[in-house]
Amino acid sequence: MAQWLNRKTGTTCLFAVVLWAVLMLCSTAVAGERAKNVIVLIADGCSNEQYTFARWFKGEPLALDPIRVGAVKTHIADSVVADSAPAASAYATGVRTSDKFISVGPHADTMAGVPKPDAELQYRPLATVLEGAKVMGKATGIVATSRVTHATPAAYMAHVPGRDMEDDIMEQAVYQKIDVVFGGGKRHLAPKDAGGIRADGENLAMELRSRGYQIVESRDEMLKVNEGKAFGMFASSHMDAEIDRPRLHPGQPTLEEMTRKAIEILSKSPRGFFLMVEGSQIDWACHANDPAHLLGDLLAFDRAVAAALEFAKKDGRTLVMALSDHNTGGFSIGNYGSDKVYSQMKPDAFLAPFRRMKASAFALWKKMGDERTVPKVKSVVLEGWGIDLSDEDAQLILNLAAQNRKAKQEEFYAVGRVISQKYTYVGWTTHGHSGGDVPLHAFGPGRPMGVIDGPEIGRICARAMGLDLEKLNQRLFVEAGKAFGDGNVRVDKRDPQNPVVLIQHKGKTAELPVNKNWLLFDGKARPLEGVVVYAAETQKAYIPMQAVHFIRMSKEPLPSVVAGQKK
Ligand SMILES: [Zn+2]
Repeated sequence: MAQWLNRKTGTTCLFAVVLWAVLMLCSTAVAGERAKNVIVLIADGCSNEQYTFARWFKGEPLALDPIRVGAVKTHIADSVVADSAPAASAYATGVRTSDKFISVGPHADTMAGVPKPDAELQYRPLATVLEGAKVMGKATGIVATSRVTHATPAAYMAHVPGRDMEDDIMEQAVYQKIDVVFGGGKRHLAPKDAGGIRADGENLAMELRSRGYQIVESRDEMLKVNEGKAFGMFASSHMDAEIDRPRLHPGQPTLEEMTRKAIEILSKSPRGFFLMVEGSQIDWACHANDPAHLLGDLLAFDRAVAAALEFAKKDGRTLVMALSDHNTGGFSIGNYGSDKVYSQMKPDAFLAPFRRMKASAFALWKKMGDERTVPKVKSVVLEGWGIDLSDEDAQLILNLAAQNRKAKQEEFYAVGRVISQKYTYVGWTTHGHSGGDVPLHAFGPGRPMGVIDGPEIGRICARAMGLDLEKLNQRLFVEAGKAFGDGNVRVDKRDPQNPVVLIQHKGKTAELPVNKNWLLFDGKARPLEGVVVYAAETQKAYIPMQAVHFIRMSKEPLPSVVAGQKK
């Protein structure tokens, strides 16, 4: 294989050998069963106790319950406890990576027990199953209740070493030719003078329209879309918590509605589709120790799972996987307040406080405005959560909020933390993530079972679609310096916000704007099947093999990414 690649592309592919070894070592799922469609649903920051809590509140089984198949280990390359970016990157690429990284190879400092990555792998873009589905001619989609540039959706669409690089993430997402993208984050589509916050002057909304996308901004507009490419931007930043949405922004669609619409559009693709749906805010609810926000968004997620299963059961060739990327908050049913009564806890008594809650803690705190007084806290909490706080506890919330402010922690986290502990029987141990395995749910062809290592989720998706991830990496991300010689490749940073990769070849220069999917060569602009990625940390540029062929004027066919196919 290395000689073939060498002969064909003139690159050394030590990386290919390393990746092949990693991928082959870990396959544990049910081999062979192919799926036409794959739907991955991620309940960000959630685990067993939260599911149990939601089931009690729902008063009937969750849609997730019948398809529980095992658990997933969530640690990342440099931490026992995961961050959403590397956790989702492992699910999207089949490779374990570092804290805050979005589908690029890990840096050198891995933790004990995680092999040190080869230099070739460090910061290298890692092809995702969504990109693979696209190259296979399938339709692709992303749905989230956060900005679509946030960690989990970003891991399927983009390649950057920092989850906060949301302008770059949106740029790559726009040039990835994804069929359906629904969520928040409109502010990253346009520059400041066009109502957005982009610093590079790019108007990606205009770019989307010029590429035939329908940009929709409300439920009603979304429901009118029946086919074609659609970008749904339902909020400038994040969408609302499910519990606040009907009151604050009733025009925003629910997670279930976005999921159903995405499936409706994508299922028209003759070759099938890949869809990732994220219940993004379950994590934020648990960071805030907020049981009201948690119940609203977790049950909204369960309804989205029900919609996906409904389709999969009818379709019969769809793999559905529902899981979390890590747990958050260390949530428990039972807390220090129930030490003496835990084995006499009746459902109505346990659920009563939550049934009175009508808003998220974030919305309650916003209602406070700048009035930080005991009477104000008491009236806001009584109105929004139906709990009559004592003066001491209202003061406790204000004190803790002040402490949080000093510690650069969210002030409003004080509401959920104090009230959960003192007025309910649910417990929290942290405002951060926690490290336990998370439940795995799966239905359809290729579904796994047992305790699965995080990166294996990506391989299971690839195997179900018949996708060869290693070949996909070779096809989408050729290291330009290796293909043309480091001396012939440089990055023009005269406009630091819009760098361009320049490749010298036989006296001609090819121009490949970073984060985009086209090149200018020989006076012609040519579209590419993937985006151009520049790793500033290693000063390496990665381009699709197609670009290599264009520049070399080679008629060589691109290698198939279908598993088991020779050419
Ligand atoms: Zn989180």
